[in-house]
Amino acid sequence: MSGRLAVIGIGPGDERWLTPEADAALATAEAVYGYGAYLDRVQARPGQTRHPSDNREEGARAAAALTHAAQGANVAVVSGGDPGVFAMAAAVCAEIEAGPPAWRALDIAIVPGITAMLAVAARVGAPLGHDFCALSLSDNLKPWNLIERRLEAAAGAGFVIAIYNPVSQTRPWQLGVAFDRLERLLPVSTPVVFGRAVGRGDERIEVAALGAAKSIAADMATLVIIGSAETRTVVREGRTPFVYTPRAVARASV
Ligand code: SAH
Repeated sequence: MSGRLAVIGIGPGDERWLTPEADAALATAEAVYGYGAYLDRVQARPGQTRHPSDNREEGARAAAALTHAAQGANVAVVSGGDPGVFAMAAAVCAEIEAGPPAWRALDIAIVPGITAMLAVAARVGAPLGHDFCALSLSDNLKPWNLIERRLEAAAGAGFVIAIYNPVSQTRPWQLGVAFDRLERLLPVSTPVVFGRAVGRGDERIEVAALGAAKSIAADMATLVIIGSAETRTVVREGRTPFVYTPRAVARASV
């Protein structure tokens, strides 16, 4: 019997953001692997086994899921948001590249999901309306000086920047340093969006100017979007302001 592995994006929180394809893949899985907090968001189904693991164990989790699928099972691995964005799909590909030839013969499906930056952007208008990039601020898997170089290159080239993993308990200072670096390259009035736990009960959305961004609290459930010099804020009485990056770049600014 040939096994199957689906690497499934479950979206950032709101269950309406789980795609029908993801839901169907979860419904047929015999075993579900994932970071415990993501597994908690997946409806338990009778007969299905659940295999929670720690956040930092991506490689071991991918290998365990592949081993299980190679035994002939229909296995799912879940990621928050999209599995290809700072998540499990790359870990699964890496294990397949390094692993036994039999893993290459498995039926593997990557099931996309709504990534956090899109959900946060939708809450405030269209900050990603023109060129943008995404950067993980975590220096667990790459050196901090590379992160600083990429931040500065992106801001200097006029990209809006979506920052994943801005802060964690073991990385308390990186976001503040990032704001310091960006203040040298961007106007202090540049809009910065903080989207925390978007789509969940404790969602919080805040918009600040870059010069005041350090006073806004962020944690590991927060995604930060830093505008470009083109990005604009539209104040709306009694509502979260709109932040948008116009579709056209003014020729004079190039
Ligand atoms: N694969 C995920 C990202 C994993 S990295 C995705 O596509 O969204 C984890 C980071 O994603 C968090 O530190 C945070 O920056 C962001 N994130 C995930 N869920 C979020 C949510 N509901 N609200 C805001 N940010 C979120």
